Amino acid sequence: MGPFYCPADEKVYIDLGFYDELKTRFKAPGDFAQAYVIAHEIGHHIQNQLGILPAFNQARARMSEREQNRASVKVELQADCFAGVWAHYAQKERDFIEPGDIDEALNAASRIGDDSIQKTMTGRVVPDSFTHGSSAQRQRWFKTGFESGRLGTCDTFKAPSL
Ligand SMILES: [Zn+2]
Repeated sequence: MGPFYCPADEKVYIDLGFYDELKTRFKAPGDFAQAYVIAHEIGHHIQNQLGILPAFNQARARMSEREQNRASVKVELQADCFAGVWAHYAQKERDFIEPGDIDEALNAASRIGDDSIQKTMTGRVVPDSFTHGSSAQRQRWFKTGFESGRLGTCDTFKAPSL
């Protein structure tokens, strides 16, 4: 199973085997690719604290599957943006980001985009079934957070386009 955040106990779960998969199967190697995955999951914790995740989980009961997928994409892209905000401050306050690190994160964001995964797994892409966003969208939102360093720029729910 892939990494996930559990709102009930407020913990992130990562089977470390996923990192092998990230490196070999998804072709997204690098320590910063791994950091991005953790930052994305912590992004869900922030959404939980801000009430975004509870509101989504409540609303989804009244949604069609298609609507649920669309809402899920917004939640996931916001977590990518929050991961970017983390990277912004990691750089600013601790200065530990090395050349190529951001590219590692962007490559990972791209490799685990729904379209990229679907293409690898089934050979075709079905946008209506996306739950995490396309490769381009995931890169875009990570970058948005990284460049701005502000949570307010991560409002995927109000964005005119994703
Ligand atoms: Zn997620």
